[in-house]
Amino acid sequence: MAGNTTFTMIKPDAVQNGYIGDILAIILKNGFKIRAMKLTRLTPELAGKFYAIHRERPFYGELCTYMSSGPIVAAILEKDNAVEDFRRLIGATDPAKAEEGTIRRLFARSLAENAIHGSDSDDNALVEGRFFFSEFEMY
Ligand code: UDP
Ligand code: MG
Repeated sequence: MAGNTTFTMIKPDAVQNGYIGDILAIILKNGFKIRAMKLTRLTPELAGKFYAIHRERPFYGELCTYMSSGPIVAAILEKDNAVEDFRRLIGATDPAKAEEGTIRRLFARSLAENAIHGSDSDDNALVEGRFFFSEFEMY
């Protein structure tokens, strides 16, 4: 059965461009509830740990540099079928291929600097949420 929570980050480019409010408004309008949220910044080491699954990919170094280049907003979101519905809301990894109206289509700069993260499975949503939040920071 599909779980009801997912994890997201508003990435450094979108924070830098002043899109936090617009992106959160879209997320809330689409029925997601915020269970945890913080403005924080990853070190290159923490970014490397978060994206360890991509360790062998050619873009890994660039990804870690980018994800530690400025503050991000990390959040745990709740909704029925959260992982799948949120992935649909953010759109394809490459904003040029993302559907009209999706967050990446609206706010992303490029394939690398693509405005927002969304977990790709229920298991990863749990792991990623715990990476940023303690029990006392989830409501
Ligand atoms: N990325 C990149 N080049 C690529 C593929 C991915 O720079 O060719 C970056 C991009 O920021 C992406 C992140 O690495 O969001 C993680 O990649 P993944 O394939 O997991 O995409 P996502 O799940 O974020 O859509
Ligand atoms: Mg992914």
